[in-house]
Amino acid sequence: MTYEGTLTKMQTEFANPIQYYLVFENSFLNVNQLLNKNVEISFQGYQCLNCGKKKKIYRQGFCYDCFYSSPAVGDWIMKPELSTAHLGIQDRDLVYEEKVQLQPHIVYLALSSEIKVGVTRKTQMPTRWIDQGATQAISIVEVPNRYLAGITEVALKNHFADKTNWRKMLQNNVEQVDLIAEKLKVQNWIPTEVQEYFYSEKNDLYEMHFPVLEYPKKINSLSLDKTPNFQGKLTGIKGQYLLFDDGTVFNVRSFEGYVVTINV
Ligand SMILES: [Zn+2]
Repeated sequence: MTYEGTLTKMQTEFANPIQYYLVFENSFLNVNQLLNKNVEISFQGYQCLNCGKKKKIYRQGFCYDCFYSSPAVGDWIMKPELSTAHLGIQDRDLVYEEKVQLQPHIVYLALSSEIKVGVTRKTQMPTRWIDQGATQAISIVEVPNRYLAGITEVALKNHFADKTNWRKMLQNNVEQVDLIAEKLKVQNWIPTEVQEYFYSEKNDLYEMHFPVLEYPKKINSLSLDKTPNFQGKLTGIKGQYLLFDDGTVFNVRSFEGYVVTINV
């Protein structure tokens, strides 16, 4: 069976275990069903996720021109504290920025290797945690815009990491931490203007179970730029990574906008 299409991050379903889907224009594939099977991935070309042209991908699935012009990849995406739509100030496209920034956001603690702090739109949970390969996560505050989430994250970065150690995450090298206890420590560290949004009662701890038959002992990251054709037996899916029996890991998200064929 051959599937062909432009890679975008895998769609997920919060089930036990997490269900993963590769969605192409004319077909979709439940990736869990490929576990323990030989899978071949072949690079065919590029298609920018924004303009649709067959231009080389620069970053995040976008060609160079789109990456530097589209409001969907402004600096405030990666640095929420730079958000300005709540002040009526435009970065690239105020209508777009108001739509995305002026909606409920969550600041959370997640456990993917060490404990980490992060920000997400409320509609993106638990998707965001699944994408990071977190085994547990808990919300700290729910605020009405991205700016307030951003300044909360900045304050908490003094106490927690804000990046996932992806090697440890993929090897399931996860610290044992009581997230509910950590959350209770945090209240004193969040900014004054966010105090009223602290989730004092709700200790809704999420647990994620990933479809992994075997964790890799050593890790080689697959790059379609260097290795346009790869074949291996799929042994797991965690975060946005496919894990193979020879220790190769493929970060689907890093290759958004790459057109591939997948042979099963
Ligand atoms: Zn483009």
